[in-house]
Amino acid sequence: MQLDPAASAPAVDVIPFGGVGEFGMNMLLVSSGDTAVLIDAGVMFPEPELFGVDLVIPDLSALDAHRGKIKALVLTHGHEDHIGAIAHVIDRVDGPVYASEFTIALVEPKLEEHGIDYAKRLIAVSPRDRVDVGPFTIEFLRVTHSMPDCLALALHTPAGVIVHTGDFKIDQTPLDSEQSDLHRLAELGSAGVLALFSDSTNADRRGFSGSERDVIEGFEEIFSSANGKIVVTAFSTSIYRMQVVVDLAEQFDRKVAFVGRGMQQNSQIALRLGHLEIPGGVQIRDSEVGDHPPQDVVCLCTGSQGEALAALPRIAIDDHRHVKLLQGDIVAFSARNIPGNEKAIGRTMNHVARRGAEVVTDSDRHIHVSGHGSAEELKLMISLVKPRFFVPIHGEYRQLARHGRMARTVCPDSEVVMVQDGDVLRFDGRTARVVDRVATGRILIDGTRTGEIGDEVLRDRRHVAGDGLVVAIVAINAQSGALEQAPSIITRGLAADVRHEAMLKDAPAILARSIESAPREEQSDPGLLKERIRIEMQRLFRKRAGRRPLVLPVVMEV
Ligand SMILES: [Zn+2]
Ligand SMILES: [Zn+2]
Repeated sequence: MQLDPAASAPAVDVIPFGGVGEFGMNMLLVSSGDTAVLIDAGVMFPEPELFGVDLVIPDLSALDAHRGKIKALVLTHGHEDHIGAIAHVIDRVDGPVYASEFTIALVEPKLEEHGIDYAKRLIAVSPRDRVDVGPFTIEFLRVTHSMPDCLALALHTPAGVIVHTGDFKIDQTPLDSEQSDLHRLAELGSAGVLALFSDSTNADRRGFSGSERDVIEGFEEIFSSANGKIVVTAFSTSIYRMQVVVDLAEQFDRKVAFVGRGMQQNSQIALRLGHLEIPGGVQIRDSEVGDHPPQDVVCLCTGSQGEALAALPRIAIDDHRHVKLLQGDIVAFSARNIPGNEKAIGRTMNHVARRGAEVVTDSDRHIHVSGHGSAEELKLMISLVKPRFFVPIHGEYRQLARHGRMARTVCPDSEVVMVQDGDVLRFDGRTARVVDRVATGRILIDGTRTGEIGDEVLRDRRHVAGDGLVVAIVAINAQSGALEQAPSIITRGLAADVRHEAMLKDAPAILARSIESAPREEQSDPGLLKERIRIEMQRLFRKRAGRRPLVLPVVMEV
């Protein structure tokens, strides 16, 4: 029998807390002995049926078993599904946060928003840097994705090298010319990699996802044919998309305005760090959009998912302070539809069309490419890294399973290990086995952004002594958008006192007035109306009772 020297090395456990078997909420713990490293701290966006909930993050109580052991948090890149939960997670980490410069710049405002002063704990790393954390050496490798400064990781552990791809595609012509570090991945592969944890998001797509550059032509067609204003909506982290639009604006003599908080904030960060270049005189403020003839302007807006508070949905119902849509304008949707958002996106498109503007999507012109690798890119990653064990992550089960089958054809010597959230996957030097399960779940973060509330809140808030639950039920006429009857308000878990009684008596009338004063299109749009009801009720309870209840708006169209 051959003796394997690694067999006597300490075991390494890997536990995904989120992102395996679902999209979003990526978080994974790697631990050995008395040291653990946490990779990513992401959120998932709430499904529409979780009314009143702003964010969904992994249940962090499972992390408490590792309290005092977690010596570092590593962030692969700056997307919300990787950094969005940082303010809730950072207290459970006893050490620095390592991330690229751009990722750190996106994290800072999140910590500030929560009044957390952790600036000293954020450490910027560059590709090919290495840091030591207990028995681990973490090596950072550049990968291409849909935003700048994204990292994959090579974790040198006592049981062997674990490669974690982060989110990636293999963009051979990235706009910033910063290519994936395929050389180092291949080097690691030929030296021997214990395990590869790889992004499965697009495992069910054939071919290659394509370069960020591929959208230039589609946008060129729009710019060369548009007679009115061009409004482009994209994710506020799509810095490459911003660059494409800015370059074309300069070429076609248009001014660029960033509209919506996320667009403004992120474009400024990207400018400051040199990831976005805007020639002098090209950028204008959103408040200046109306000062220029429509054919001289292009707006980059938030709201590609139809989010009620973002710029485009407000613009589309003619309720934006600075930007109006006119006959002949073009609104280009340059983002994927996150599953669950289709209805809200569709409604926004309807409003745009009602304004007389033209809706252009990826099915009309090639104006969006995915940031995640398709089958051929995933195969290339597997063949470069040649891992002993292959573990598909980032995806629902069908993408994970397909990615696993792919690995078996590319690298028949690799063993595919399928895991799901909460599995404790142990590498002991010889085998990789699920040895245990820890409880995982979701925590819903409500609109007040202060508290974390368990799933059960939506079933019965009566048991929660906190700020209670308010259900506001509004019946509107589907045709006219008018109120059919006075709104009714049901509360649970609110201690009754005199102030509350008076407030509850006034609440329906206050709500009715607010709804009647809403723009006509908002009245006939349940999504937008719910947002209004939620804000109105939260304001009322905060001002008159000092309470921050969870508000569930219910809009019935009759
Ligand atoms: Zn990403
Ligand atoms: Zn992601």
